[in-house]
Amino acid sequence: MIKKIGVLGAGTMGSGIAQLCLQRGFPVFIYDALPEALCSASGRIRQNLENAAAKNKITSETLKFALQNIVYAKDIKEFEGFHLIIEAVTEDLAVKKNILARVEQICPQAILATNTSSFLVSSVGEGLKTPSRFLGLHFFNPPVAMKLVEMIHAPKTDTDVFQEAKKFIEESLQKTAVAVKDTPGFIVNRVMRPYYLESQRAVLGGAGISELDQAARIIGGVPMGPFELMDLIGLDVNLAITKTIYEALKKPERFKPQPIQEHLVALGHNGRKSGQGFYLYKDGKSIGENPEVAVAAPGGGDFPEGEAWEMVIQAVIEEAKLALKEGIASREDIDQAIVLAMNFPRGPLSWQK
Ligand code: NAD
Repeated sequence: MIKKIGVLGAGTMGSGIAQLCLQRGFPVFIYDALPEALCSASGRIRQNLENAAAKNKITSETLKFALQNIVYAKDIKEFEGFHLIIEAVTEDLAVKKNILARVEQICPQAILATNTSSFLVSSVGEGLKTPSRFLGLHFFNPPVAMKLVEMIHAPKTDTDVFQEAKKFIEESLQKTAVAVKDTPGFIVNRVMRPYYLESQRAVLGGAGISELDQAARIIGGVPMGPFELMDLIGLDVNLAITKTIYEALKKPERFKPQPIQEHLVALGHNGRKSGQGFYLYKDGKSIGENPEVAVAAPGGGDFPEGEAWEMVIQAVIEEAKLALKEGIASREDIDQAIVLAMNFPRGPLSWQK
């Protein structure tokens, strides 16, 4: 029975997962290699919990419990005897393997989970003595708010371990779990890749970025067009995921990183967080397109936004069909994952004109 939870890495995801577990009544220990990361996680978690209480999203009892039941651990030895360890350290394979091997020695009975976005779970778990107790739990940002968790059953994951983790995600954390095979990008990062890449191809073919974003919202009914979304995610983060999946799938042309994004990232124009991405930002608000887009896509031309949007969404639908054909997840789980992760009005396999 899962009662005590350890979180490795106190960055964006680690602190969010810790907060989620606390809000659901689980004591949490969180560890980070950098003391300053732990310190800022402590401030962030407290602030988020207090804000949630002020908005009546959590009760004062939950707030009290959460603040009293989080430990900012100085050493992973403090995780001894824990039931579930969720690894959310930097997306670096060697770093992940190393910390998991260390924590396995301290907690040989625990279920170990990785929150990796782009590596195969089996690669992250290489070198573990008991890979049967290891699986992928891919949370979305921010973990408290996002309903979806992709659960990755690596080839060596024990079925009972998977079921115990599933019960925890669904019943204890009250999230929707979708089961995914251990394949590059799982469901969401893979099926959504064409959203980012095909839209850049459309721009190379003469479509405008704001016109295409607008078509996505108005015709597609999605909350954010591809360029707005990439600016929010971070162009660098998004490009790194593209590159890892592109390599892992043996460089299919459709997943090739695109020159516009590479150009912007090389300039440090990484999206909202740097004030410049596909758009320029002032005081957090978009103030127009970044002229550097035209430097990387000088062609100009006329590509009606409705047609460009159709090309983008069709590419997403085709990717979803391919993922289904490859058996990475069920039809229902593929659709459910995209609806919950992206707030799309429908899943790609149920998309109709
Ligand atoms: P982040 O950079 O915000 O945090 C990573 C933390 O790991 C940092 O605080 C860093 O100090 C710490 N760290 C590095 N090496 C460590 C070690 N050896 N031991 C302990 N801590 C160490 O990154 P993030 O965005 O929280 O991402 C963490 C993981 O979650 C990555 O695998 C990422 O792919 C995945 N993920 C991220 C998102 C997202 O939207 N940010 C969504 C889903 C999954």
